[in-house]
Parts: sequence; structure tokens; C-alpha cells
Amino acid sequence: MVVVMAPGAADEHIQAVVDRVESAGGQAFVSRGVSRTIIGLVGDVTLFGGFDLGAMPGVSDVVRVSTPYKLVSREHHPSMSTVEVGGVPIGPGTFTLVAGPCAVETPEQTLAAAQMAKAAGATLLRGGAYKPRTSPYAFQGLGERGLKILADVRAETGLPVVTEVVDAHDVELVASYADMLQIGTRNAANFGLLQAVGAIGKPVLLKRGMSATIEEWLMAAEYIAQRGNLDIVLCERGIRTFETATRNTLDISAVPVVNALSHLPVMIDPSHSGGRRDLVLPLSRAAIAVGADGILVDVHPHPETALCDGPQALVDADLRALAAVVRQLPPLLGRAPA
Ligand code: PEP
Repeated sequence: MVVVMAPGAADEHIQAVVDRVESAGGQAFVSRGVSRTIIGLVGDVTLFGGFDLGAMPGVSDVVRVSTPYKLVSREHHPSMSTVEVGGVPIGPGTFTLVAGPCAVETPEQTLAAAQMAKAAGATLLRGGAYKPRTSPYAFQGLGERGLKILADVRAETGLPVVTEVVDAHDVELVASYADMLQIGTRNAANFGLLQAVGAIGKPVLLKRGMSATIEEWLMAAEYIAQRGNLDIVLCERGIRTFETATRNTLDISAVPVVNALSHLPVMIDPSHSGGRRDLVLPLSRAAIAVGADGILVDVHPHPETALCDGPQALVDADLRALAAVVRQLPPLLGRAPA
């Protein structure tokens, strides 16, 4: 962190900054220029951050030179991480296909979707038992009944389960059924929930908040990591822009940007970003090409009857086409299908 003093700042104001930093155990290096003085700070930035040095007399600017997140950063952990979910790796060298219904509706529908997913080479099953919907009148999910269906389908197919938790009070319950806890876009800034999933110690799939910057997304991950859980997979699922042709705008550049900043694996959700079945395949190709560690896709045996997001769900033929791409493209880029 660098403190830039205003032109002609008084010596006592410069000294006050130095004293404040040193009293917190940091070091302050004063460099006097012709018109300005700058002070370089060394030490734990989180200690100085709380001081609001910018409000001190004579200070004109405070410039951060390191990231505000630590545990999830590559500064802290230079090599890329792999997260294991029920024995399935997500991380460098592999490409993981997660597929399943947007919402768990019935045992038959969930099993059929899981069988489609498995036949296409998916190694993890997704499915929401708790659905955070924009409308309170829309289907909200089956709750614990949905979790039991997911557990039964896991027993039948062998696919570990990724499912969303929307309330901190339900974290233990959901974790008792799930192999990986999903935090959805609408809860990506629900800090109590992030801390609760951090404390439970299960792998977490953290969607990007629909209006979150990459830094805010990584700070959300830091909330989970700070509770002792570094088994976090980030998932870009499209952000809000002025564009209305797609449900959200897939920020494909988020993958290489995050890869440069964080050691955590990054996946893409082409279903919730495009919101249209016909976009899932091209966006998946883009995800593979840009270096994502996997994709998360919605599938449904009868999307026309789906209680949630039918227009983006893949049917069997689409899924077979996607499976061929997932088999062929990642190996060209040094990744084996997980
Ligand atoms: C989902 O994956 O089921 C979901 C609701 O996604 P998002 O939070 O990205 O909208």
C-alpha cells in the first residue's frame, strides 16, 4: 500500500501516518519528492486498511498494490488448486462436465436426467432442491424431499451430487446429502451464508454474483476460505448487461483474469448465462478454449414440462453433441475429461 501525501503536506501529518502504521506493527518508508511525499507501507494490509488512512490530514490518496483477498490469491498460493468432489477432480489437467436438471421435480425426472448426464460422460450430477426464484409465485423447489431424491439418484447412478443451499440455517441439512454445496448468483454476497458453508468443510461451487466484479467475487470466496475451507470452485454464469438477446452476458474473459489472480478452479455455466438451449454448445466450446476447468449444464428429459428454466435445458440429442465436444476438444488443450 502506498500513501500519497498532498503537495506541501506538513511534516507533522507525514509523521502521524508513520506513527499510525508503526503502532500496528507495520513499516513505513518515507520518500520525499520535489512537490510530493509518498509513504510505502510494508506489513499486513488488513491492519492498515481499517485505519482509513485516506481520511488523515494531509493525505491525498491511498493506493493498494496487493490484492484485498489473500487465501484465494495466487500471491498466497502460486500453484493452481484441484478440488475433489466425491473423488472427481476439478482443476488443471482435467475438464469436468457437471450436468443435471435445473430443479429436482420428481424421482423419475431426476433419474432420467442423471442417466442422460452419465451417458454423456458427466461425472457430477447437478440439481436444485432449493430454488431461489425471482418470483415468489414460481416453483421454489422440493426442499428436503428433493435432497432425498438426489441421494437416491446418486446411489443408483454413482454420480456425486452438487446442489444449492440458499439459507444459512439449512447448510448442515444440505451438506448431509450433498457432495458439493452450490452458492447461487443471488446469494453470492450473502456473507453469513458464505461463512456457514466455509465452516461446514464440504467443497463449494461459488457462482459469480450477477452484478459482481471479479474482485467482489474473489472476496466472496475469501469469506469461505477464511473459515478454513479452500475447496472452492468458482463458476462464471453470466453477468447483467444492457444486452437482452441473452439471459445474461457470459463474461468469457473472467476465466483467464481469475486464473491470473486466483489458484481456485473456474467453471462456466453456459445454461444460465445464455438462457437458451441453442447457445449451450457454442458457449461450451468457448469455455473449453478459454481454459475453464469444466462446465455446468442443465438437462431435462422433457424440457417443455420443466418447472424451472426449460428453454435452456438440453435434451438427449443436444447432450450427445455436447459430449462429443467434451471428449474431443479438451485433450487438444492438454486436459483429460474428468
Ligand atoms: C442454478 O444453477 O440452478 C442457478 C439457479 O444458477 P444461478 O444462481 O447462476 O442463477
